[in-house]
Amino acid sequence: MDESFEKKEKEAARALKKSQWWQNKIHNSHCYYCQIPLNQKTATMDHVLPISKGGKSVKNNVVVCCKKCNSKKKDLSLIEWEEHLKQLKT
Ligand SMILES: [Zn+2]
Repeated sequence: MDESFEKKEKEAARALKKSQWWQNKIHNSHCYYCQIPLNQKTATMDHVLPISKGGKSVKNNVVVCCKKCNSKKKDLSLIEWEEHLKQLKT
């Protein structure tokens, strides 16, 4: 993975978090994965396709999720994460 790509996308994510679009999105929101209610303090930004896998900080690649899901996702591979999501839905 190109380090400058990662650096650029992390910066873009920071900028996106400050945008009105994101502020509106996290206001009275729910975790994209486990559906728990979130607010501006508890909401985090998750890249559906992680930056480390080539994902970009663009509106259609970021979702609102809780800290728990976000850190869990970081610990798992994409395949393990998909398995975890299936369990959440059953
Ligand atoms: Zn969650």
